[in-house]
Amino acid sequence: MRLRTICLSLAILFTCSATAQELIIADSLLAHIKELSCDKYEGRRTGEPGNLMAGQYILQRFEDFGLEQFDSSYVQPFDFYSRWKKQAFHGRNITGYFAGTAFPDQYIVLSAHYDHLGIRDSLVYNGADDNASGTAALLEIARYLSKNPPRHSVIIAAFDGEEIGLRGADHFLEEPPVPLESILLNINMDMISRNKKQELYIAGTGYTPFLRAPLDTLGQACPLTISFGHEKPEPSHSDDWTMASDHGKFHQKNIPFLYFGVEDHEDYHRPTDDFERIMPEFFVRASDFILETLLYLDEHWERLARR
Ligand SMILES: [Zn+2]
Repeated sequence: MRLRTICLSLAILFTCSATAQELIIADSLLAHIKELSCDKYEGRRTGEPGNLMAGQYILQRFEDFGLEQFDSSYVQPFDFYSRWKKQAFHGRNITGYFAGTAFPDQYIVLSAHYDHLGIRDSLVYNGADDNASGTAALLEIARYLSKNPPRHSVIIAAFDGEEIGLRGADHFLEEPPVPLESILLNINMDMISRNKKQELYIAGTGYTPFLRAPLDTLGQACPLTISFGHEKPEPSHSDDWTMASDHGKFHQKNIPFLYFGVEDHEDYHRPTDDFERIMPEFFVRASDFILETLLYLDEHWERLARR
C-alpha cells in the first residue's frame, strides 16, 4: 500500500517534470532498496551469510541485465586481516561491465558498497541509506545502461568490505581487471536516499576543476539542492570526505572521482537506518541526477578533459 502511494505520487511528479524521458524507474529502484535492507540479509556484514545472500541478489540482477564478466565471473573474492577488528575476513566484490560503443578501452567505474555492519546486541543494522541506497541505484542504472549502451565502457562495481576500511575498493585497485591508466573516472554512491534539507553533495571536483562548471549547470536543473565540497581543496568545509568511502582508494591512485552522498543523519550507523526512514522522492531524484551526470560525462568527456 505504501509503495503504491509512493509510486503514484512519483508518477505525478514525473508527469509534471520537464524531463519527459524516464531514466530511473522509481518502483524498480525502491524494490531494490527495500529488498537489500530487509532483515533476511542480517545487515550484510562482510563474510556473513546475509552478505553472501545480498551478493547473490546483486549478481542475479547483473545476469538479468546482461553485464559482461571479467575472467568469466561477476565475483572477485579477496581475503584480508583487519588489525582494527582483530579478525580475518573473506570479502567478495561483485563487478561486471558494459562495453563502450565509441571508446571500449576507456572505463568509467560506477561504484557502491553493499556491505554494512551486520547484527550487534541482537539488533539488525539494515543500512538502508548506508548503503542499500547506493547499491539499488547501481542496479537501476545498470538496467538503464543495458538498454542504452554507453560510449565509454562502464564498470558496475558493488564493493564489499567498505565498512572495514575500504577493503573491496582497495582489492579492485590493487588487482585491477583493466589497466589503471584506462580508468577515466570513479563515480561512487554512498548514502543517497534521505536529507531533510533536500541537499545532495558532490565531492571530488576540487581535485578535478574541469568537472565543476558542467556539474554546476546540471545541478541547477535538478530539483534537489546540489552542493559541492567536503574535500581538501574546498577550504569552506572542514569535514573532509576524501577518504570517507571507496572513492578514496581511486583518489590514492590519482584517478578522478565524484562522490555522491548526503550529510550524516540521526540514524547513521544505528539499527534504525531502515527502509521506512528513507525519503523515496529524494532518493529517486538523487539517483536520476547521478544517472544524468554519468550520461553527460560519457557524452562529453573528451571535450571536457581537453580543456
Ligand atoms: Zn557507507
